[in-house]
Amino acid sequence: MFGSLAHWSIGSLNRMGTKHIPQRTCIACRTVRAKRELVRIVRTPELRVVADPTGKRAGRGAYVCRTRECWEVVLSAPKHLEHALHLEMPIRQDDLAQLREFAATLPPREQSNAVPKNEIV
Ligand SMILES: [Zn+2]
Repeated sequence: MFGSLAHWSIGSLNRMGTKHIPQRTCIACRTVRAKRELVRIVRTPELRVVADPTGKRAGRGAYVCRTRECWEVVLSAPKHLEHALHLEMPIRQDDLAQLREFAATLPPREQSNAVPKNEIV
């Protein structure tokens, strides 16, 4: 009886140990968040750079918060994104335009009670 109880405890510990939420870092503000709170930008095999809200496209990805603020940071300095995606050429202007259109659909700033980014110097 005690033997089976101990076995049960170990089993539940293992389940807890394997439970983990995938996390990624926003390339704009460097905040580590749960992957689903970020939007993936992917470099496709055709070397196009596109927003990937489903996170399922093939290719090298970079993650940006789901806020317009962070997207503006990224889009104002595309070199940073090129670097994150290991892209050896500038992002195409039409790809940037598409990313801007995507950014315009995002909320202007975070809805949660997180500390505003500009208070961190
Ligand atoms: Zn961010």
